[in-house]
Amino acid sequence: DAAAPPKEPEEKLILETEKVTGPSSQHSFKAETKRLLDIVAKSLYTDREVFVRELTSNASDALEKRRHLELSSEVEIDPDTQNEPLEIRISVDKVLNTFIIQDTGIGMTFEELNENLGTIARSGTREFLGKLDKAAAEGSKGVRDNIIGQFGVGFYSSLMVADEVKVYTRSALKGSTGYCWSTDGSGSYDVAEAEGVAVGTKIIIKLKDDSKEFSSKYTVESILKKYSNFVGHPITLNGTTV
Ligand code: ADP
Ligand code: MG
Repeated sequence: DAAAPPKEPEEKLILETEKVTGPSSQHSFKAETKRLLDIVAKSLYTDREVFVRELTSNASDALEKRRHLELSSEVEIDPDTQNEPLEIRISVDKVLNTFIIQDTGIGMTFEELNENLGTIARSGTREFLGKLDKAAAEGSKGVRDNIIGQFGVGFYSSLMVADEVKVYTRSALKGSTGYCWSTDGSGSYDVAEAEGVAVGTKIIIKLKDDSKEFSSKYTVESILKKYSNFVGHPITLNGTTV
């Protein structure tokens, strides 16, 4: 039928297929992290879309780390992982109001989860908090948003747009257990063992009502196009290469 309009490629959404199996333990964020989360939550920062860049760059770092790990012969890699291509998959769903990003990277162990997502390890964030204090002391209110934009707040930027952030992760090291880490951005996070977790990391963001735009494929695609050229790994959005 020559008159038929071209078909839209079929959407391939990422589903939440993992299952929490173990009891979940609650952990308090460190004081410094709580402060940062408070700032992020109260921020009127208009450039909330930076969370896409931050999570994509974390995914890209994780893929790079897995590649390095595979090159070093000192450790044993999970055999399921070796055939997995190094890639970043993003999936958005307007109905569920979710933004999901998955990578086939190095993943995290239980210790790494607590260390990396429970505390502020990055020196840039320390510097960020320092600059904020300075701006506050000088009474320059407008500076705050600027500083957030300048530094980015890494993983925690996801809490600008999320009611809940859930992270399923499994380390690429052979025999690793999968975990589910989650928070609503208040003082604590939960961690539990989970089944059916692929090596790498899958982050599920339940979007806030005021951040629905990030469940739109077109919005996310245009954000990704701004910098996906600089990401050294393929990115797909709802199954289509960006
Ligand atoms: P930074 O990237 O500057 O270290 P982030 O706040 O963005 O700071 O991330 C904190 C840490 O969490 C990272 O350094 C990394 O160890 C871990 N992390 C975040 N995202 C991922 C991911 N997708 N896969 C593996 N580790 C991750
Ligand atoms: Mg980062």
